[in-house]
Amino acid sequence: MTSVEHRLAASIRAIPDYPKPGIIFRDITTLLGDAKAFRQAVDELVRPYQSLSVHQVAGIEARGFILGGAMAHQLSAGFVPIRKKGKLPHATVRVAYSLEYGVDEIEMHVDAVRPGEKVILCDDLIATGGTAEGAVKLLRKIGAEVVSACFVIDLPDLGGRKRLEALGVEVRTLVAFEGH
Ligand code: AMP
Repeated sequence: MTSVEHRLAASIRAIPDYPKPGIIFRDITTLLGDAKAFRQAVDELVRPYQSLSVHQVAGIEARGFILGGAMAHQLSAGFVPIRKKGKLPHATVRVAYSLEYGVDEIEMHVDAVRPGEKVILCDDLIATGGTAEGAVKLLRKIGAEVVSACFVIDLPDLGGRKRLEALGVEVRTLVAFEGH
């Protein structure tokens, strides 16, 4: 681990058995509340994208809004919210994605991205990759070029990175934790 990875990993709080037994919830509110860690996380996330002329950063509700908003500002890009169904006021595109038990749906405004625009997808954590896969499908549905997907945390045992890579999306993560 580099010193930056170490600092970021140390700033993330682990809450055992939340929201249910057997899950270790990786709580980034402690990272967000640590000014240096927050700065470092956003700097690391944007670093490889600075010369790419990215048009939009798309963030997944809700923690992806905080990180994605900061990334968009730093890249001088726009920001696109990807939300749980029923929250967006204008016409939307919608996709169902799989959860551990059952399915849910996410939405994006139909005119949030122009065809051909370069978009970076962002969320706090990738686990099974189901949510991010849904987001990539939504973005592609309206013609976006999904250049890359980035996450502060990877849970590699759950296979999300491979799932996105199988869709042809480059994946970047800053720290990895074993287990669920
Ligand atoms: P997945 O679709 O399985 O990749 O799950 C990713 C989404 O669920 C992200 O929006 C995460 O914020 C959240 N999530 C899944 N597992 C965890 C965990 N162990 N700790 C915190 N958030 C999680």
